[in-house]
Amino acid sequence: MSLNPIRPWRNIERRKSRRIMVGNVPVGGDAPISVQTMTNTDSSDVRATLAQVIAAAEAGADIVRVSTPDEAATRALREITRESPVPIVADIHFHYRRAIEAAEAGAACLRINPGNIGDAARVREVVQAARDHGCSIRIGVNAGSLERHLLEKYGEPCPDAMVESGLDHIRLLQDNDFHEFKISVKASDVFLAAAAYQMLAEATDAPIHLGITEAGGLRGGTVKSAVGMGNLLWMGIGDTIRVSLSADPVEEVKVGYEILKSLGLRTRGVQIISCPSCARQGFDVIKTVEALEQRLEHIKTPMSLSIIGCVVNGPGEALMTDLGFTGGGAGSGMVYMAGKQSHKLSNAQMIDHIVELVERRAEALAAGQGEALAADASPQVPVPGMHRAKG
Ligand code: SF4
Repeated sequence: MSLNPIRPWRNIERRKSRRIMVGNVPVGGDAPISVQTMTNTDSSDVRATLAQVIAAAEAGADIVRVSTPDEAATRALREITRESPVPIVADIHFHYRRAIEAAEAGAACLRINPGNIGDAARVREVVQAARDHGCSIRIGVNAGSLERHLLEKYGEPCPDAMVESGLDHIRLLQDNDFHEFKISVKASDVFLAAAAYQMLAEATDAPIHLGITEAGGLRGGTVKSAVGMGNLLWMGIGDTIRVSLSADPVEEVKVGYEILKSLGLRTRGVQIISCPSCARQGFDVIKTVEALEQRLEHIKTPMSLSIIGCVVNGPGEALMTDLGFTGGGAGSGMVYMAGKQSHKLSNAQMIDHIVELVERRAEALAAGQGEALAADASPQVPVPGMHRAKG
């Protein structure tokens, strides 16, 4: 990401990491921070798993992980990887055979800890399978499943123990001259996770997979993930992220994107800037934003839209957004295009009209007419009961 010389307070300098590939998705280096999720279907059920993978990809997931606990799952993986629109990571815990089968079945990456799969010969076999099939590996250290000797050494899960575990696994891959790996040190405790990740970031140049594990349900888990990962991302740490929620994988993807969007690290779809509303509102801000969020879900083109209840903050926010609507009096408000007043619009027609404006703008941007649009405050679509703004 290029640094912003005009607004230096917005700069995030990313930690310099090696770049690896997860299928066709680069992870690390200056690659965009990728968003991952994980399916929660029975992985041997190809149709159900694939449907979830596709839904997650449509919501913006760059990479999807599928658990492969048994042979039926690695058999199904062949069809899943063939049909999936995004690279698939196979999640393996102890069975080195599953790792080899998953690599053969087209997994783009294996999530496996080489220290957990047995002797050196088995590690060699798994690394060979990964190499033969172009798979990368993710080492996944978790505070809840640290090796016994580390728990004895440190007394409890702590950043030192987690990083030592990670470096031990790394060494096993490096001993086999394998360097296409990324690593995570997850914990459900934000303090522990943040400290472990900071220590890890100093100890290796491998790309980092960020996550607060078992973060909780949709609301609590979102907040926890945003606090934990948000801090790390702000420090420049993290090359790919997964938000772990007890919720639909699509929600994980949406939350992951929102975290990255809030830090300006990724853009996708419409970012709505809206006020909380108060007695001054010229229209029902909350209901309007709810409706717009739903109706604009299909837009992938990055765009900003301000929906502000009154002129206290409306014109100012509109200056900084691509499109804006500010409530006024007498059942109507003002539409802003590229920061300039464009036309008056009745509240009753506002939602349909804004959706149309956004869709039209997305089409134009996709057709490469972005610059012309940026300077244009004309309505671009027919305005119901059009009143052109003066001046
Ligand atoms: S912008 Fe206006 S309506 Fe919205 S919260 Fe502020 S004062 Fe209230």
